[in-house]
Amino acid sequence: MKDIFVTRSSMPAFEEYVEEIKDIWDSRWLTNMGKKHCELETKLERYLKVDHVSLFSNGHMALELLIQAMGLSGEVITTPFTFASTTHAIVRNGLKPVFCDINPDTYTMDVTKIEALITEHTSAILPVHVYGNLCDVEAIAKIAERHKLKVIYDAAHTFGVEYQGRGAASFGDASMFSFHATKVFHTIEGGAVCFNGDPGGLKEDLYGLKNFGIRDEVTVDAVGANSKMNEFQAAMGLCNLRHLDEEIEKRGRVVSRYRERLSGVPGLKLSAPQDKVKPNHAYFPVLFDPAEFYADRDAISEKLKKEHIFTRKYFYPITNSFACYRGLYHAEDTPVALDVSHKVLTLPLYADLPLEDVDRICDLILEPS
Ligand SMILES: *Cc1c(COP(=O)(O)O)cnc(C)c1O
Repeated sequence: MKDIFVTRSSMPAFEEYVEEIKDIWDSRWLTNMGKKHCELETKLERYLKVDHVSLFSNGHMALELLIQAMGLSGEVITTPFTFASTTHAIVRNGLKPVFCDINPDTYTMDVTKIEALITEHTSAILPVHVYGNLCDVEAIAKIAERHKLKVIYDAAHTFGVEYQGRGAASFGDASMFSFHATKVFHTIEGGAVCFNGDPGGLKEDLYGLKNFGIRDEVTVDAVGANSKMNEFQAAMGLCNLRHLDEEIEKRGRVVSRYRERLSGVPGLKLSAPQDKVKPNHAYFPVLFDPAEFYADRDAISEKLKKEHIFTRKYFYPITNSFACYRGLYHAEDTPVALDVSHKVLTLPLYADLPLEDVDRICDLILEPS
């Protein structure tokens, strides 16, 4: 039996990649903001409809160094319903994450619960656009303005998503994207910080921080790290970007089939498309309610695994219940996130997933056995 994984990295034709990397053998410029790196930044600025894109070796380091560049202090209000990276990036900067519960429909931060968490130590809000669902960016902007807080979005799931014709990265002070192999757009490993305008010379600060804090030949003026995207990664990005619209369209076909088969089934909850949002079809999460459906999330996951179909309990566990944070943070403080984390399963989704396979997955989910 063939394996069906939760995702499958998109790749250009082998010859296309070889063609793209050929001139690296002439230039011998392999990393340190080379020609392909610069070309990819420019092309992404256009694609993402944002003034500035700063590339990184991966999404996590982009977020960690962005937080450093912003000079945040004290507490950061964030969500536990995310990948480990979001919370770790806050903690590794010596800051305290304060966890806000999530909205049960979009799985993004519940904006009605943010203000109660703000204290004199709060310096920023760090929400996540979960599964490609956009946060309530307008409400968050108002809260941030009222309390003079910075807003950084973890936009790792929202590459290519637009709201009323504006790119997902146009909201807040800055957004982080991940270009990991499993994401809708990837550079093998990679990431970016995106923002409009250039608040406080952010572009230059990020440039320094990803290169050891080196300002010029004789000046090192920041405690930086090494997080430069190399030319082979950028080349993969340039190739993948050419095919991205088609990839997203093909993902959309898979999503439509899942919706046709699974909507309206008692005990199953799908993520609704958002109003005025151009989606990227990054993930297909399904909530299994054991009170109404014949089996719970874990049983469905096991049943599919026996048929070599690999789903993902994403996000489970939530970050405030990680072993490394034991005794510090408590999942019970965010009951909606905790509940969702026990019920949600993301189903296989990638551009080339055959619709017959989607049907087989749905049959297995729907037939009690
Ligand atoms: C993938 C991901 C990251 C981390 O990105 P990497 O490129 O793997 O370092 C951060 N946050 C979220 C929500 C992600 O899905």
